Amino acid sequence: MVSRASRPLTLLWFRDDLRVTDHEALTAARDDGDVVAIWVREERDAEGRGPRPLGAATRWWAHESLQVLGTELDELGIPLLFAAGTATQIIPEVAADLEADTVRWSRRYAPASRALDEAVARELEARGIASEGSPGSLLVEPWEVEPSSASAYYKVFTPYWNAARQVSVDLPLPAVTAQSLPRDIRDRVERVRRENAHLLAEIDDLELLEAGTGPASTRFTPRSGAGGGAKESSLGEGDPRFPWWEDTIARYWTPGCVGAREAVDRLGERIAGYAEDRDFPGDPEGTSALSPRLRFGEISPRQLLAEVDALGDVGAGDREAWVRQIYWREFAWHLTYHVPDLDWRPMRPEFADFPYEDDPEALAAWQAGRTGIALVDAGMRQLWQTGWMHNRVRMVAASLLSKNLLLPWQLGEQWFWDTLVDADEANNPVSWQWVAGCGADASPFFRVFNPERQRVRFDPDGVYVRQWLEGDAGEGAGGVDAGDDSDGGAVAPIVDLGESRQAALAAYDAMKSAQ
Ligand code: FAD
Repeated sequence: MVSRASRPLTLLWFRDDLRVTDHEALTAARDDGDVVAIWVREERDAEGRGPRPLGAATRWWAHESLQVLGTELDELGIPLLFAAGTATQIIPEVAADLEADTVRWSRRYAPASRALDEAVARELEARGIASEGSPGSLLVEPWEVEPSSASAYYKVFTPYWNAARQVSVDLPLPAVTAQSLPRDIRDRVERVRRENAHLLAEIDDLELLEAGTGPASTRFTPRSGAGGGAKESSLGEGDPRFPWWEDTIARYWTPGCVGAREAVDRLGERIAGYAEDRDFPGDPEGTSALSPRLRFGEISPRQLLAEVDALGDVGAGDREAWVRQIYWREFAWHLTYHVPDLDWRPMRPEFADFPYEDDPEALAAWQAGRTGIALVDAGMRQLWQTGWMHNRVRMVAASLLSKNLLLPWQLGEQWFWDTLVDADEANNPVSWQWVAGCGADASPFFRVFNPERQRVRFDPDGVYVRQWLEGDAGEGAGGVDAGDDSDGGAVAPIVDLGESRQAALAAYDAMKSAQ
């Protein structure tokens, strides 16, 4: 048995896995010995390695969720440290100062994040500190399924789903047990917290609630100059529209693993009837609303799979339909693992030359929910108010932007990146590329959603449109009063749906004939 004095110390680097249950890296760290935890507000390093910087709404979520995690860890006797900057510097220096034996983390899969984690591991090794990544955010790691064809990865969902489902998924792990840190380690942690220049005294020092510079990660510059180069976030510093979210999204969500647990307890109610109800945005209980929980790893997909299996009173068809969506998320990460720069580079290379328009006014109207097209405007205001939008409406709003308005899909993707609480490095760009027709297994370009027909079909009683176009929510995004357009009538449509559809198809033909 290891004597208490020589118990190994692990630095657990939390990232998108803000939970203490079903956490392989944390469980392994506790099995080894004592644990100190850290979360870093990361910037990409000089070589562009690291995750895409958080958007405005996810910064809010992270701030709130980390507070809850801090409390949970406190109860377990695990100190949580905070730092901001480039992890390639911070993690090795903090680990060395703490005299940690090992640094552990849950793996992440985007190429730029993998490159950063590899650099951190090398730096740790040079200092004689071990490191280990564990699975934590997916059911199936991207390399666990490979097509039999010459392609290195699946480009079509259904064969992916058929293969991925064959990979067995372990049962979730229990919550880790509490620890009692020896006095000397507690003193060391406090000394390092005071003396290490990277470490911040408290969560507020992360400045997650400050107006930021937004997703500076983007390297997308529209060929036509649409959006003025779009290097800056649309919710940038000094922008009067920058919300403090207290009057809007904070009213709708309780971030953190306690709120996640409550949401999971209601999973049965939410997904009973899912196969039918999931497309109707007016039904607030029609989908699980678990996406920000999955985004931040407050709950693992493995826990959800176990939960859904145990829902005896939900029909097999509904369970299957819901699990299929969980595998869409897996598929998005499979693609993201294999394909770099999905947030700006179209998967179908011919779309790099697509003749998009440069129309900042149309973009602003779309962002503010002032297009005069009721379903889209309702969706864009739901997004602004709640940080979330129903999937069906996301598809319709994205189709209007990239096809009827002929704006570069990357501009819409950036807006979603800044305003969605579930903004995800895989799901957001993959879904945008899917709608814009330039992605893997994409909806064919000629499938231009007709938002009016979609409204009649999926919001037949007008419940959704009325909810978001009337009352407080009737204010356009950014506080712009959009007037009384609850029937989509008071604000004249900024685009003729029929003509713009024809124009989109003509632009597509022009792109093809130019190849
Ligand atoms: P449920 O219907 O209850 O589904 C359960 C879970 O499955 C979701 O939480 C999500 O993790 C996953 N899922 C569901 N639908 C999809 C899908 N189509 N693709 C991938 N995963 C899915 N989802 C995000 O998590 N983050 C994003 O940034 C994001 N951006 C999107 C942008 C566009 C243009 C579109 C069309 C879709 C986007 N989605 C994104 C996918 C989808 O809209 C959301 O996952 C879903 O609306 C979340 O609601 P829910 O948790 O109630 O989902």
